[in-house]
Amino acid sequence: MIKEIQAKTLLTNSKNPSSWFGVKYGMNIYRGCQHQCIYCDSRSECYRIENFNDVLVKVNAVEILRKELSKKRIKGTIGTGAMSDPYTFAEKKYMLTRKALEVIAEFRYPVNIITKSNLILRDIEILQEINKIHACVAFTITTTDDDLARKIEPGAPSPSERLKAMGILSELGITTCVTMMPILPFIEDTEANILDIVKQAKEYGAKNIVSALGMTLRDRQRAYYYEKLDLLFPGLRGKYEKKFGNNYGCGTNNSKKLKQLLNEACYKCGISTEMPSYYNKVSSVQLSFLDGN
Ligand code: SF4
Repeated sequence: MIKEIQAKTLLTNSKNPSSWFGVKYGMNIYRGCQHQCIYCDSRSECYRIENFNDVLVKVNAVEILRKELSKKRIKGTIGTGAMSDPYTFAEKKYMLTRKALEVIAEFRYPVNIITKSNLILRDIEILQEINKIHACVAFTITTTDDDLARKIEPGAPSPSERLKAMGILSELGITTCVTMMPILPFIEDTEANILDIVKQAKEYGAKNIVSALGMTLRDRQRAYYYEKLDLLFPGLRGKYEKKFGNNYGCGTNNSKKLKQLLNEACYKCGISTEMPSYYNKVSSVQLSFLDGN
């Protein structure tokens, strides 16, 4: 169900550019997400989203964004996509992410977007405009197997569609990267999966792969995930319960080996495993300027 709401504020503020893509201002136009990934952390109680299957649309988001940006004195990266996908289906109708990007372009702020949707291609020309400052798009890819993705990310466009979209944005000079997270224990933690993500990321122009080899599980999110495991992967819940109990962080069985494999594969094909950020880009430009003098 989609519910329209009026938001009082939009941007969250971190004192310094955070380690998370150098984001200074966080933005969520939607609460809840129609991509319905079975592992989604945003179902956790701490986020106080009563029913994650409902999508709350902040219909006044663009006006608030304009008001808030006009009062800001410090420029910094605006990040979206951490709590809900800015290109969830509702965006097709409401076009609020698009309109917010237009405002961001007008105010000349850098942006970092995390998504699982190729709907972002609709907004290419605005992203190109923002990219005169800095635009980075991270596509979350947890598996390259479209059939598996249909089970665990049932509402999201397939990994193949995401990768194709990434290729188009990369060709246009927009920084693209892969957020390889989560990697679900006992389901996605194979060497073949990790290597294929790297291979395809390279093929489609990703500059960085940011990974988390494992997942988080807590309260409401865990209950939902286990319910889905029973349906989709009978017998697997027992393995999770035995291995992780009530742990929040649930690493893959072979994290160390997989991490090494991932790092080596990225190194070989020239993909960075660091998180890209506008702040780093500016610092490196400043450093090379200083070096040259
Ligand atoms: S796309 Fe992201 S926010 Fe949406 S359901 Fe999946 S993990 Fe959650």
